[in-house]
Amino acid sequence: MKEYESFILGGGPAGITAALYLLRAGIKVGWAEKLSPGGQVLLTENIDNYPGFPQGVKGWELIDKFTAHLDQFEFDKFRDEAIEIRSQSGSYVVKLSESEISARTLIICTGARWRKLGIPGEKKFTGRGVSYCAVCDGNFFRGQEVACIGGGDTALEESLYLSKLVKKIYLIHRRNALRGAKIYQDKIFRDPKIEILYDTIATEFAGDTSLTGINIENALTGSKSLLHVTGAFVFIGLDPAGGFFPPGLETDALGFIKTDQEMMTSLPGIFAAGDIRSKYCRQVSTAVGDGATAAYNAQAYLEHNS
Ligand SMILES: Cc1cc2nc3c(=O)[nH]c(=O)nc-3n(C[C@H](O)[C@H](O)[C@H](O)COP(=O)(O)OP(=O)(O)OC[C@H]3O[C@@H](n4cnc5c(N)ncnc54)[C@H](O)[C@@H]3O)c2cc1C
Repeated sequence: MKEYESFILGGGPAGITAALYLLRAGIKVGWAEKLSPGGQVLLTENIDNYPGFPQGVKGWELIDKFTAHLDQFEFDKFRDEAIEIRSQSGSYVVKLSESEISARTLIICTGARWRKLGIPGEKKFTGRGVSYCAVCDGNFFRGQEVACIGGGDTALEESLYLSKLVKKIYLIHRRNALRGAKIYQDKIFRDPKIEILYDTIATEFAGDTSLTGINIENALTGSKSLLHVTGAFVFIGLDPAGGFFPPGLETDALGFIKTDQEMMTSLPGIFAAGDIRSKYCRQVSTAVGDGATAAYNAQAYLEHNS
């Protein structure tokens, strides 16, 4: 079994930054990333709030720069998924789908994934009209009428992106006011292609082989109707990308990992960084900051426990 001083799970902004700091410190590092490095940023059209890019930067372009920086170092990268973690004689063994590795410290940076609505038809029509990623799937709906479900930053940002492609967007929000940043709200209100359906709940995705509509209900009056759309984009928040945490790792009620301000979890030698952490602000800049802090403290942990 391969052994590391520090092993990073997940290669989004948090994992990339943690790797960079540890490699520069001469630590023996490995990482597992189940897809290509980049995480959610690769699914983002434009990042407008990362310092150094006053005109904004395309998600893939930012990740190109992140990975070019990391490529200066040689280290073991497993394109594989963490499935289980167990402790074994002062180290941790990480079971990947094709191998196992052992490490004295772990930095969990597996981020988050879109929350499902959990209504009838969602599973059946995912990939056949129901999507969770405008950048990935928006192009399939050029010139069509679609709905976006949600009222936070992501729902607003993604609706604005989709409005460049589609004919019309119904923004379905269960409350009577949007939650997202004012800068997005102002743009949404000015966009003639976007109609907001307040106090509205999506109750079922309908169709035959692909989506043809959404059954909706007014939360105040209870009145029901069918909204004719061929696409539905769900942006109602994030769930932690977990399922492999070791016993004893403390999480909040939603399953995000609790850490202290040094990114230390409830288990010695295990750190967490980025969106997987229990916190309010899930952004590239905070993921990068968490990754640096976790790496710095993992290094200190290795020095004090050698
Ligand atoms: C549509 C959208 C728009 C956004 N817009 C902005 C924006 O404008 N500005 C901004 O600052 N932020 C934005 N964000 C948020 C930002 O992308 C995230 O906060 C940031 O990517 C979090 O980084 P992370 O490294 O913690 O996690 P992630 O980016 O989620 O990366 C986690 C990585 O871990 C991998 N992984 C998951 N599970 C496993 C496993 N079991 N084993 C191995 N690998 C695993 C995943 O494949 C992924 O690559 C946006 C997000 C989305 C979805």
